[in-house]
Amino acid sequence: MSDGRALARVYLEQQRLLGTDAVTLPPAGLAASPLPDLAPPASRPPAVKTTDLPPAGLAYDPPARDLFSADPLQQVTTLRGVAELVAPCTRCRLCEARTHTVPGEGAEDARLVCVGEGPGRTEDQTGRPFVGQAGELLTKILAAIGLAREQVYICNVVKCRPPQNRTPLYDEIAACVPYLFRQIEILAPRVILAMGNTAAQTLLDTKQSLGALRGKVHRFRGIPLIVTYHPAALLRNPNWKKPTWDDVRIAHCLLDG
Ligand code: SF4
Repeated sequence: MSDGRALARVYLEQQRLLGTDAVTLPPAGLAASPLPDLAPPASRPPAVKTTDLPPAGLAYDPPARDLFSADPLQQVTTLRGVAELVAPCTRCRLCEARTHTVPGEGAEDARLVCVGEGPGRTEDQTGRPFVGQAGELLTKILAAIGLAREQVYICNVVKCRPPQNRTPLYDEIAACVPYLFRQIEILAPRVILAMGNTAAQTLLDTKQSLGALRGKVHRFRGIPLIVTYHPAALLRNPNWKKPTWDDVRIAHCLLDG
């Protein structure tokens, strides 16, 4: 692919994710960079104080667990129980080509839950979320706020890989999202980090763009929710390193606040 076409692809992806007017194309060399450095900036900015938190955003409060429902998902009380329901699931067409379901993994007592879009090829092969380059980036992002990957819970909106890593369709998300909602209900985290358009729009029940949703403290069932870029998008666009760092600092403040 020519450099011009590669840049155009980056530009269109930025437009899709940002939904904003001003987009800066990265230099050609950066666009091809396989693994941008996501370490905190050399001159590390001060931590966000609770008094400096961004304004409140959206609040989404879908119905919580129904104790009297016959739905097995409503009866499970552990993350393992959710994973056991996900494993044989055929609620949507994404079951047809999957190798493994990818329910999520992490600490049962996680204070931070990171939510992405869906499993990729490596995740489908291993049954684990965020492995490969995007996973390495996520580990760096977490390390920047002093968290080991094992201390958080990492999962996706859909638990089976969409073909060719396409964006999950509306009906697929609708079929799968009860698993995610139940996981969050069981975990009861202190903060949710929604990474990318699909996670942000699903957890906030909105069509607003990622660009419009960043920089605010939203709420999912009362839990503070911060929106940032998906690590896979950062792999393509190192220019988003600083905004991502800004988002993560806000989440860090909320975790410790
Ligand atoms: S994506 Fe979700 S709803 Fe669809 S088959 Fe997989 S686990 Fe079931």
